[in-house]
Amino acid sequence: MAIKITEDCINCEACEPECPNNAIYPPEEFWKFSDGTTINDHEKREPFSDEVFYIATEKCTECIGFHEEPQCAAVCPVDCCLPDEDNKETETELLDKKHRLHK
Ligand code: SF4
Repeated sequence: MAIKITEDCINCEACEPECPNNAIYPPEEFWKFSDGTTINDHEKREPFSDEVFYIATEKCTECIGFHEEPQCAAVCPVDCCLPDEDNKETETELLDKKHRLHK
């Protein structure tokens, strides 16, 4: 499943540079598939949050294929990067997603 950032986020920015998929965005910033991936889709998409950093679910692979554990959760000082129960995916699905994002 994807990881989500909860309202406990303190906007410290620690997670953003750690994401191999560039799936983490500051509050109010539009997200794009093309940011940090090989996908040729530059459409700006609505932010998930206007108050705290957020993870674009469609780009999160739980770091599968890159790291042993979700890097955002590993560096978060307030432990607000948690599994998103509303977006469950199998390891195979996450790996397929990773291959779609990075051809
Ligand atoms: Fe990015 Fe990994 Fe966090 Fe998902 S789990 S948002 S891929 S750092």
